[in-house]
Amino acid sequence: MKLPSLNTQILIGCLLGLAGGAWLSSPGAAPVVPEVLYGARMVGNLFLDLLRMVLVPLVFASIVTGVANLRAHDQMHRVWTTTLAFFFLTMGVAIVIGFGAAHLFRPGDGLQLEMFAEATRNYQARQMPLPDYIAQFMRGLFQNPFKALAQGDILAVVIVALFLGIALVVGGERYRNIGRLMSELQELCLMVVGWIMRLAPLGLAALLLQLVATQNHAMLLSLGHFIAVVIGSTLFHGLVVLPLILWLVTRHSPWQFLKGSREALLTAFVTSSSAATLPVTLRCTEQHLHVRKDIASFVVPLGATVNMDGTALYEAAAALFIARLAGIELDIASQLIVFFVAMLGAIGAPGIPSVGMLSMVLVLESVGLPTEAIAILLPIDRILDTVRTAVNVEGDMIGSLVVQKLAGDARET
Ligand code: ASP
Repeated sequence: MKLPSLNTQILIGCLLGLAGGAWLSSPGAAPVVPEVLYGARMVGNLFLDLLRMVLVPLVFASIVTGVANLRAHDQMHRVWTTTLAFFFLTMGVAIVIGFGAAHLFRPGDGLQLEMFAEATRNYQARQMPLPDYIAQFMRGLFQNPFKALAQGDILAVVIVALFLGIALVVGGERYRNIGRLMSELQELCLMVVGWIMRLAPLGLAALLLQLVATQNHAMLLSLGHFIAVVIGSTLFHGLVVLPLILWLVTRHSPWQFLKGSREALLTAFVTSSSAATLPVTLRCTEQHLHVRKDIASFVVPLGATVNMDGTALYEAAAALFIARLAGIELDIASQLIVFFVAMLGAIGAPGIPSVGMLSMVLVLESVGLPTEAIAILLPIDRILDTVRTAVNVEGDMIGSLVVQKLAGDARET
C-alpha cells in the first residue's frame, strides 16, 4: 500500500495527537493517563533530540557556506543589509500590532489583581537595568568556538560561523577545500534531517498529545480574553501582514508559500522552538520554497535567533496587559521603552520554548512593572508559545524569499 505524502501524514499525526490529548483529559481515561503520557514523552523527546542532534553542525555549516557563497562583495553587502532591514522592520510592525491589539481589545480591564497591590503602590518609572542586559548580551556573542559548538549556544555559533564565512570570502581560492567541506557537511546534515522527518508524524502527534493533556483548563478560561487577543493578533501578523509583505515584494502566492512551509510551521507550532525547528525550516526554504542555497543558509539560521516577530508582538501586548492588571496606564514614553526592549529581548532570546518569558521580565523591569506578573503568564505560556514560535519561523522563511528577491543576484535567481 502506498503511504500518503509526508505532509498529509504530519497533518493526520497532529489531528490524532489533538484528539488523543482531548481524550486523555476526559475522566474516562484517568487510569491510563500516566502510561500514555510516559510513552508520548518518550516518542516526543526522541524526535526533538534527533532534531537537536543535527542542529549545531547544520547551523554552523549552513552559515559558513551561505556567507562564503555570497562571494561578490557587493552582493554580500546587499544581502546583509536587506536581511537586517527586513528583520527589524517586521519585528517593529509586530510590536505595533501587539500594542494596537492590547489598546483596542483592552485585555485585563477590570481584572485588577490584589497580588499586585503592593507593586502598584511602589510604581515608579524605575531606572531600567538595560545597560546590564546589553553588557551581558554583548559578552555572550563572542565565545570560544569549541565551547559554543559544544554547548549548543546558537547565537555564538552563528557569530563564529559568520567570521569563518567572511574569512573564506576574503581568503578566496586558496581555501576552497574548507568551503567545499562545509558545503558537503550541510548537504549531509540536510539528508539526515530528511530521515528524521519521517518520524515527524509520530513525534508531533506525541508532543501535541502531551500539550493538550497537561493544560490547566481552568487557568485558560480565566485568562481567555488575553489569550484570544494575543493569539488573534499573532495570527493576524502571520496570516495577513507577513503574507502581504511577501506578495507585495515577490508576488509569491501566500497559498503556495503556506504549502511549501507547512512542515516547518507545524513543527514550530508543536515544538515551540525555532532552534529545534531550524533543520526543518532550512529544508523547506531550500527544497520547497526554492530559495537559493546561499541566501537560505544565511537568512534562516540568523533569523532563527534574531528574528522573532511573534515573541516581540507578545511581549508588547503582555506588557500592556500586566500594566492594566496592576492598574497602571503606560504613557507614551514607557511604551517606547517597551518597544525597544521587546525588540532587544526578541533578538537576544535563543529560539527555545518559553524563552520569551525571560525577556518578558526584562520588559516589565524596564518600565517598573511588577515582575511577579510572570506568575500569571507562565501557566498560559505553553499555549501562547505555539503560535508565536510558528510566526517566528514563518518570518524567517518569508525573509529569505524577500531577501532573494531584493538582494539576490538577478543572474542566479
Ligand atoms: N519559543 C520561541 C521560539 O523558539 C521563543 C519564545 O519563547 O518566544 O521561537
